[in-house]
Amino acid sequence: MKFHEKRVVITGGVGTIGQSLVKLFVRQGAQVFFTDRSEEDCADFCAAMKKKGLETNFLSGDLRRKTHCETIVGTAVKNMGGIDILINNAGTIPRGNILETTDDMWFSALDVNLNAAFFLSRATIPYMEKAGGGAIVNASSVWGIDPGRDHIAYCSSKGALTAFTKSLGRDHAADNIRVNAVCPNEVDKPMLPAGFTGRSTDLRNRSEYPANTAPLEQAANPKEIAEVIAFLVSDESRHICGETIEVTGAKAS
Ligand code: NAD
Repeated sequence: MKFHEKRVVITGGVGTIGQSLVKLFVRQGAQVFFTDRSEEDCADFCAAMKKKGLETNFLSGDLRRKTHCETIVGTAVKNMGGIDILINNAGTIPRGNILETTDDMWFSALDVNLNAAFFLSRATIPYMEKAGGGAIVNASSVWGIDPGRDHIAYCSSKGALTAFTKSLGRDHAADNIRVNAVCPNEVDKPMLPAGFTGRSTDLRNRSEYPANTAPLEQAANPKEIAEVIAFLVSDESRHICGETIEVTGAKAS
């Protein structure tokens, strides 16, 4: 029970990596408070977890609203008595170059991928300080370090999130609050084939998988990303702070 009695907030909890995160932390003894956009999806996931004997609480809503981000923190603290671990996992991936990117796509990317992490972290850090420390992990991307083509809003928001992570980590290391980012390359999930289809490649057919794909010959499993995040908030990584950890299967972005 590696995370026994740890109080964990996870955004994007019903997403691909989010579900792996929620299961991992509950199974390791943590109290988990997760969030996602759809009330129905959150309730269904919570009920499915309960059937397996895994207890969680959630609050649904739109992370693009600052007040919702602040309510998440207030409700989680009321529920669990504090927050030891915050995982800013929710994300959105608008596709397109600058001429294809609408105002809405641009602001959504910044609001979900960057601003929510800012509002949630700002509201959470005073509780971590009071408790003597804590850990935050932000889900960035390899494209937040080395941008790919035709995803200008996504790459810009994730790039800002990696800088935010380093800055926040350096500011709060002395408070025993460690802040790091995980930067995955491809993760195997329903949205991935859609992205490749746009690039004339059907990932559902493995023989069509791009020749220059990960030397480990497959996209990461969501659980493999969740396990790296768990490492980054565990005591085993106590000397890692303000870092961006790439998880690529040795694939160059
Ligand atoms: P996902 O789309 O399966 O899950 C993301 C979750 O965020 C969804 O459940 C979605 O409902 C939630 N979300 C999006 N906008 C929201 C909003 N406005 N309010 C509340 N919730 C909102 O994605 P995933 O693959 O699980 O990715 C998790 C994180 O990892 C994301 O930040 C993503 O950018 C990052 N990432 C993923 C990959 C990949 O290949 N899957 C690669 C690099 C980085």
